Amino acid sequence: MTSSSLSQPLRTVDAVVVGAGFAGLYMLYRLRQLKLRAQVFEAGAGVGGTWYWNRYPGARCDVESMQYSYSFSPELQQEWEWTERYPQQAEILRYVNHVADRFDLRRDIQLETRVIAAHYDESKHLWTVRTDRGDEMVARFLISAAGCLSAGRVPAIPGLDNFTGKWYHTGNWPHEPVDFRRQRVGVIGTGSSGIQAIPAIAHHAGEVVVFQRTPNFSIPAWNRPLSAEEQQEWKAKYPEYREQARKTRSGILYDYSQRGTFDVSEAERQQEYERRWRRGGANYTHAFNDIFFNRDANDQAAEFVRNKIRSIVKNPDVAAKLAPTDHAIGTKRICVDTDYYDTFNLPHVSLVDLKATPIKEIVAAGIRTTDKTYELDSIVFATGYDAVTGALDRIDIRGRDGRALKEKWTEGPRTYLGLMTTGFPNLFFITGPGSPSVLTNVVVAIEQHVDWIARCVHYMQERTLNVAEAKGEAEDEWVAHVNEVADKTLFPTTASWYTGANIPGKPRVFLPYVGGLGNYTVICDKVAEDGYRGFLLQSAPAPAPAPAPESESESESESESESESESESESESEDAVAANRL
Ligand code: NAP
Repeated sequence: MTSSSLSQPLRTVDAVVVGAGFAGLYMLYRLRQLKLRAQVFEAGAGVGGTWYWNRYPGARCDVESMQYSYSFSPELQQEWEWTERYPQQAEILRYVNHVADRFDLRRDIQLETRVIAAHYDESKHLWTVRTDRGDEMVARFLISAAGCLSAGRVPAIPGLDNFTGKWYHTGNWPHEPVDFRRQRVGVIGTGSSGIQAIPAIAHHAGEVVVFQRTPNFSIPAWNRPLSAEEQQEWKAKYPEYREQARKTRSGILYDYSQRGTFDVSEAERQQEYERRWRRGGANYTHAFNDIFFNRDANDQAAEFVRNKIRSIVKNPDVAAKLAPTDHAIGTKRICVDTDYYDTFNLPHVSLVDLKATPIKEIVAAGIRTTDKTYELDSIVFATGYDAVTGALDRIDIRGRDGRALKEKWTEGPRTYLGLMTTGFPNLFFITGPGSPSVLTNVVVAIEQHVDWIARCVHYMQERTLNVAEAKGEAEDEWVAHVNEVADKTLFPTTASWYTGANIPGKPRVFLPYVGGLGNYTVICDKVAEDGYRGFLLQSAPAPAPAPAPESESESESESESESESESESESESEDAVAANRL
C-alpha cells in the first residue's frame, strides 16, 4: 500500500468501521462507550445503508415496524413513532437519521467514501485502510458493517449499452423521483424487490412488462396504519418482547407452531394456512414446525399458496406461470407483498416467462427475447445482490502474509461464528457468513453481533491484549457445523442467493447459519464466558519505535505483556499510539 500524501497525514484510530447502516451506527455507538476512537467510512452520501440506497417504488421492510428497530436504547424505542405495520423505506431512513443525530454519531462518519483496501501489518498488528478518496488510516481493529445485501448485481445481458431508454437497479435507485407515467416499463426479476416494485410501478406506468425467470412465493402484507393503542401496547412490553424475540430462531416474535404438518387433519391444516394468510407476512412459513425440514410438509404449505395464486390471478396461463413449483417454499427468501398477484389482472401488465423465451439481448428499443422484442422506455433491474460476501469481495482485504480474503474464500467463506476468519487478526464481521444474519430480523442479529464484538474488545482492553484471531481448528469445526445444520433442512436443495447460486462462478455453499439466532446467541455467549474459546487473544509485541535522533531510545520490550508498556504509549509514532491504546 502506498504511503499517504503529504497533504493527508496518516491518521490513526482504534477502529475503522466499514459502513454506516444499522450495523455501523450501533458499532460506533458501542466503541465510543469503550472510549475508543473510531472512524466510519460510508460510500453513500447519507447514513442508512440498505435504506439509503433502496428507494425504489414500493420499497418497504417485511419485518414489522415495532420489531425492526434498535432495542439498545429504551428511550429511543419509547420516543420513536412508527406509522404503519410495515415501515416504508423513507420512514426507516428517517429513523436511522434520527438515531445518528440523537447519539451524535455523525462526527465520526465520513460519507461518500468507499473503503477499497485494508492490509494487515503483522509487525505492527495494525490495519492500514485505504479509501477511494485517498484517505489512509491505521487502526487496531477493522470491523465490517458492509452489509449482506449491498453489492448489487446487474446481470451481464448483452447490449445494455445500446438501450436508448433509462435503466435502474432497485438497490441503487436515484434520489430524485422517477416518473414512470405513460411509460412502457420492463422489470427483470421477481424476488422481494421486484415483487414490491411491480405493483407500485404499475400504479403509474402506462405499461409494465414483467420478465420472470423463476416465480417466487409471496404472502400478502396486509399493511395498514399502526394505531396508537397498538404502539402503546408494544412500548409497554418492549423489554419483555425484545428478550423473547432474541431467543427465537429468526429474531422476530412470530407465532412459531410446535405442531407437525401431519399431526392435524387436512381440514385443520387448511384452516391454519388460511389463518396465517389472512394475518399476512412471513409468519406463514411457521404454520407447522416441519415446513423447512420435510418436503411433503413443505409441499402442503406451498400448494396452499399456489392455490391462492390460482384464485387471485384471473388468467389461468398467467397464474400457472406465477405459481412456483421448482423450489420448496421458504428456501428462497419468502416475499411479502401488497397486491402483487392482483397486479397481473390489470390490462396494462403482462408477464414474460423467461424459462420459455429467455432474454437474448437488450437492444436500442428494449428487450429482445427468443420470440420477440419488447419496446420499452425504462428497464428496472430487480436482479438482486452478490449476497453476504459480495461487499467484502469488493475490498482488497489482506491478512497475514499478504493473503487476500478473497483468495482464502475461493471455495466459499470460512469463519468462526461468522465473526472472524483465521489469518485476518482483529478483523470482525457484523452479520458475516456463517452467522444467522439474512435469516433473521437483521437489526436483532446486528445488535447481538455488535454487543459480542464490543464485549470481546472490552475484554482485551482490560487485559491489555492487542490481537484477536480465530483459531484454525475452531473455524474448521464451525464451518462443518454450519453445513451440517443446513443439510438437515431443505435450504440447500434450492439454487438461491443463500447458496451463492445467483452469481455465476460463485462457490455453492450455504452462506448463513440456519441453527437459529436464539441458539446461536447461546453459543456465542458460552464462547465468551469460556474466555473466548476458539479465539487466540494475545498481547503481541508492539513495534519497536524508531530510535530518537539524540536522547535515550526507548527500550524494546522483552516480554509480550511488557510490549504494551507505558514508555511506548508515549511514543510520538502514531502507529505506536494505536498499538498501545488497548
Ligand atoms: P433476489 O431475491 O436475488 O431476486 C432477483 C431476481 O432477479 C430473481 O427473480 C432472479 O431470477 C432475477 N434475475 C437475476 N438475474 C437474472 C437474469 N439474468 N435474467 C432474468 N432474471 C434474473 O433479489 P432481490 O429481490 O433484490 O432480493 C434480495 C433480498 O433482499 C431478498 O431476498 C431479501 O432478503 C432482501 N429484500 C428484502 C425486502 C423486504 O424486506 N421487503 C425487500 C427487498 C429485498 P432467478 O430466481 O431465476 O435467479
